[in-house]
Amino acid sequence: MSVFDPKQRNTLGGQIGIALYRVSQAIDFLLRERAKTMRLSPAQIQALLFLKYARPSVRTIGGLAERLRVTYATSSGIADALERKRLLRRVASPADRRVTTLGLTPKGAGKAALLEDVLDEIEAVVNDLPAAEQAALLRATQAVARRLQSAGYVRIYEMCWGCQFFRKDAHPDDPGGPHHCAFVDAPLPEPNTYFECPDFVPTES
Ligand code: SF4
Repeated sequence: MSVFDPKQRNTLGGQIGIALYRVSQAIDFLLRERAKTMRLSPAQIQALLFLKYARPSVRTIGGLAERLRVTYATSSGIADALERKRLLRRVASPADRRVTTLGLTPKGAGKAALLEDVLDEIEAVVNDLPAAEQAALLRATQAVARRLQSAGYVRIYEMCWGCQFFRKDAHPDDPGGPHHCAFVDAPLPEPNTYFECPDFVPTES
């Protein structure tokens, strides 16, 4: 059975599968259109958003490769292109000078700010649904995303609040930060708890 064949698309799972495919096509279209107007590629758009919101320690070529699910060489090429446009700079990590981190330049931060609304159309459509349907859609899509993550097709990046490893106010007087991450066993300053982290595990799972 194929969800692409309308004759065979007669199960609920098949109809939802093709609906999700159409949503992914719409998102892809929105990214490509924005890329054209901003003279960026869709991958460069995703890289700028990654560098704005990812946990600082994963803002590396490897971290970007993992986020975009591309090879290290492709990730390096995306960073090179953004560096040539003066949107990104490579900086030695203060924690380990052998590690090179990627950071947005002021011009790159300005571009990233202009990308904030790229999925607004999707949000507006969802906002038009009744509240109960929105709640059901949220539960269902989160469950689907978790299954897809378990199968290795996607990686979920989320902030600390709601993560199994987050220990709120574990050591309020620690100069390194009042909270604690049990995954890396290190203090967390408040601002870092709002970044997206690839090691996030939801508390309810
Ligand atoms: S593993 Fe969890 S608590 Fe630790 S930094 Fe990532 S999201 Fe935050």
